[in-house]
Amino acid sequence: MNIETLCVHGSDKKYDTTGSVCVPIFTAATFAHPAVGESTGFDYSRVQNPTREHLEHTVASLEGGCGAIAFSSGMAATSALTELFSPGNHIVCSADLYGGSYRLFEQISKKNGISFTYADTPEEIAAAITPATKAVFIETPSNPMMHVLDIAAVAKTARENNLLFIADNTFLTPYFQRPLALGADIVLHSGTKYLGGHNDAVAGFLVAKNPDVCEKIRVIAKTTGAILSPFESYLITRGIKTLAVRLERQQKTALAIAHRLATQEKITAVHYIGLPTHPGFEITRKQSSGFGGMISFSVCDEQTAVNILERVKIIQYAESLGGVESLITYPALQTHADVPENERIARGIDGRLLRLSVGLESADDLIADLMQAMEEV
Ligand SMILES: *Cc1c(COP(=O)(O)O)cnc(C)c1O
Repeated sequence: MNIETLCVHGSDKKYDTTGSVCVPIFTAATFAHPAVGESTGFDYSRVQNPTREHLEHTVASLEGGCGAIAFSSGMAATSALTELFSPGNHIVCSADLYGGSYRLFEQISKKNGISFTYADTPEEIAAAITPATKAVFIETPSNPMMHVLDIAAVAKTARENNLLFIADNTFLTPYFQRPLALGADIVLHSGTKYLGGHNDAVAGFLVAKNPDVCEKIRVIAKTTGAILSPFESYLITRGIKTLAVRLERQQKTALAIAHRLATQEKITAVHYIGLPTHPGFEITRKQSSGFGGMISFSVCDEQTAVNILERVKIIQYAESLGGVESLITYPALQTHADVPENERIARGIDGRLLRLSVGLESADDLIADLMQAMEEV
């Protein structure tokens, strides 16, 4: 089946005898046993729930994994992932990570004895490996600077060094990029973003390539308990049905906006991987089938950045991304506030940088909104 069909139909198991065309929301916390020592396959909803299982099967098939585990947020998924490691272990991460992942690693995992090195390129990642290294954790394209890492090159290094290779695929989704096929072992998602796609549910996923890893994560999830509720599971299942059409349109609009922004005199840099001038353009073309709907750009001064945030009318100044509503964020003050200032600025995340998540509004309306917000008053 092609991915568009998988998005719409998901897992064919609907747990229903009425012919319902969509999966029901099973609110049951617990399930009755037919006899002593027997189970319907469901015992208690922290362990597994039919609505959630349907979604997990769908996400696993979209990413080409052997299984997926749904969590109550992307950060709950990342946090569960860190439970795979022990004190003394070292993880090499791509630099310019999602701010929350960085905060988790620096403020919580470090306290628990896990150490981290941040690296920008496949070569730097290889050079950062020590005898204590157990895993490589990357995000590509990166947030918010849209740096692209060659997943296959990092996979080769990880394989040669016997490391678990984890990729956060939130920005491109399996519609555009499938890290497991390129050699990753685990894919991480904030389902809050493109998978859900409607800015109305918070969710996270870990998808594993091999059954052993999948089983380890499942034990962590049922033991630590940050599972996705049946209602949220339903919302994300419903969101995924339109993933392909949403992303096609969001990408088309993003490309039009990126081209227009690049010619605006108050804009000093546009970071969009679909622009041929972007450093990640070639790699993305090689490893993925698209460029996504995220753009970041720098303006000439901080006042102009503040003006845009305060004057946009259709685009909303709000954190998050990937939904039908276009959102603009101020990474220095929002998503990346916990990254030390000097490090943040060295990465280009300063008071002149804005990040735009392109929604499903008309491209012309979005461009006009940005242009009016930049005008002198
Ligand atoms: C939002 C996000 C997360 C965290 O997910 P939540 O659902 O907000 O907990 C992780 N990685 C990336 C790239 C994100 O954008």
